[in-house]
Amino acid sequence: MEALPEPLQNLKGKVAIVTGASRGIGRATALALAAEGANVVVNYASSSTAADAVVAEITAMNAGGAIALQADVSKVDQVEAMVNQVLEKWGRIDVLVNNAGITRDTLLLRMKPEDWQAVIDLNLTGVFLCTRAVSKVMLKQKSGRIVNITSVAGQMGNPGQANYSAAKAGVIGFTKTVAKELASRGITVNAVAPGFIATDMTSDLNAEPILQFIPLARYGQPEEVAGMIRFLAADPAAAYVTGQVMNVDGGMVMA
Ligand code: NAD
Repeated sequence: MEALPEPLQNLKGKVAIVTGASRGIGRATALALAAEGANVVVNYASSSTAADAVVAEITAMNAGGAIALQADVSKVDQVEAMVNQVLEKWGRIDVLVNNAGITRDTLLLRMKPEDWQAVIDLNLTGVFLCTRAVSKVMLKQKSGRIVNITSVAGQMGNPGQANYSAAKAGVIGFTKTVAKELASRGITVNAVAPGFIATDMTSDLNAEPILQFIPLARYGQPEEVAGMIRFLAADPAAAYVTGQVMNVDGGMVMA
C-alpha cells in the first residue's frame, strides 16, 4: 500500500504507544495511528505472535514504523522498562493509548477477591502506571495526547461487571483529574467509552438481548472506536478537547 498523502499524516515523526495492541480495538488503533505516520509501539502482555503480525501489517503500509514490546501493564517495573525501551529507540513519546483491558464477569455474590483485583490491577492501576511513566516524558516535551479506553459499563453499570464497571468509572475520574493536572503543559487527556464492539472480549455474549438497548441496533467495529481515538490523538482539531468522555456506542448512553 502506498503512503498516505503528507497532509493527512498528522503524526509523522511522532511516537505512539498503544497498550494491548495485538488484537481488537488496540490493533485497529495501532493501524490507524500508523496511517497518520506515527511510529507505533504495539504493546503485548505475553505471546508476541499476534503483536508481530500487527507490526508486519504496519510495515507493509509504508507509512509509520512499528515495534512490538512486551509489558504486562499492571506491573510497574514492566511499564517503566517499556517506556525506557521506547525512549532508547525513538527518543520521544507523543501519544499514549491506554487500551489493554480484561473482564472477569460474575455476579457480586459470586465474585472472588481475585476476580475483583485482577480487573482493578489491569483496567485501572495499569492506566495509572502507564500514564504516570509517559507523562514524565510528555511534561519535558510540553506536548502529548493521552487517550484512555473506558466503557459504557463505567457510566451506567452492568450486572455481572461490578469489578469492570468500578475500574472503568475510575478511569473516567482519573482522566478528568489528570487532564486538569497536565493541561498547562500542552497535554490533553481524554477517554473513549465504547459500547458493544465486535472483538474477542464480546464474542461469547448473546447479541439478541443486547441489541434492543442499542439505538443503532448493531455491534460496533473496532475501526469505529479507533476512528475516535485517532481524532483525539492525532487531529489538529482535537487540540482544544481535554477531560472529555467520547462515547462510541451506537447511542446506548445519551447524557
Ligand atoms: P480484547 O480482549 O480483544 O483486547 C484486549 C487486549 O489487552 C488484548 O490484546 C490483550 O492481550 C491485552 N492485555 C490483556 N492483559 C494485558 C496486560 N496485563 N498487559 C498488556 N496487555 C494486556 O478486547 P477489546 O474489546 O479490543 O478491548 C480493548 C479495550 O476496550 C479494553 O480496555 C476494553 O475494556 C475496552 N472496551 C471494549 C468493549 C467491547 O465491547 N469490546 C466495550 C467497552 C470497552
